[in-house]
Amino acid sequence: RKFQQENKLKIDSVKWGDVGGLGDIKELITDTILLPLKYPGLFKSTESQLGITRSGILLYGPPGTGKTLLAKAISNECALNFLSVKGPELLDMYVGQTEQNVRNLFEKARLNSPCILFFDELDSLAPVRGRAGDSGGVMDRVVSQLLTEIDGMDKLNSHEEISHIFLIGATNRPDLIDQSLLRPGRFDKLVYVPIAKTFEERFKIFDALTKKLPIDALFDKEEFIKRKCPNNLSGADFYAITNKARQNAIKRIISASEIATDNQDEVIKEEDFVKCLEDFNANLSDQELVIY
Ligand code: ATP
Repeated sequence: RKFQQENKLKIDSVKWGDVGGLGDIKELITDTILLPLKYPGLFKSTESQLGITRSGILLYGPPGTGKTLLAKAISNECALNFLSVKGPELLDMYVGQTEQNVRNLFEKARLNSPCILFFDELDSLAPVRGRAGDSGGVMDRVVSQLLTEIDGMDKLNSHEEISHIFLIGATNRPDLIDQSLLRPGRFDKLVYVPIAKTFEERFKIFDALTKKLPIDALFDKEEFIKRKCPNNLSGADFYAITNKARQNAIKRIISASEIATDNQDEVIKEEDFVKCLEDFNANLSDQELVIY
């Protein structure tokens, strides 16, 4: 059977400016990836006298906080190819095929190096080994295969100092990942990507999402974030709000043009944002009703 998972290989167009806030995390990721690129000799794991082992990064935290976005942005900022795979996409019901998919994935990464190899939902691909319920030890074998490929990464490019495959993983549940994946040289830099806690962080996210949109000059973003938005919104929530506000604006402009002859400004107005926030809050409280 052919290796069919839909991994995407490209230099992504997401830039650091598209990621609102998370300044410390951007800096840490940049250092982790740029230093081995600039000084490969120092990171050559076998012969460097300093013996610095290269790091892989595991971004963890609640859903929608920008983990995938960060991985895309770093690949673009460092002009690296971006190879992305969601854990479950590699899984295959046929015996031995998942391990083969893992091998193929690393082969593809080598062919396209320098690249970021991004594992979304890493927990589903590399769960703690030896659990009951892993019939036939399939997942255990997948984890072993992953370890073999990761450890072999540096040995495969004999003509280069090190292979330039940079590992980034993302998960909402780091506790479910097999601990061996988190050892030095593997996904050893654990980076927590939180929900924005301060007004400044929330503003930066909202601003990153809206700065290129046609927005009414009278709309006060700061006031909107301070007075109207709940404090626990994730980046993905802000994205949903922004998207809905655009749709509200389009509807409003169309219906105004049907009843009036004067041209409406084709901009997103405060009312478009406020309206979708009302819907959004209503949805949130519906969910709370279900949960509690
Ligand atoms: P999950 O854990 O559910 O996979 P995630 O942490 O990987 O989520 P992303 O997929 O990166 O989250 O974010 C979803 C969308 O939310 C992004 O495409 C982006 O539009 C928006 N977003 C999230 N965080 C930010 C941010 N810090 N700045 C700007 N936009 C953001």
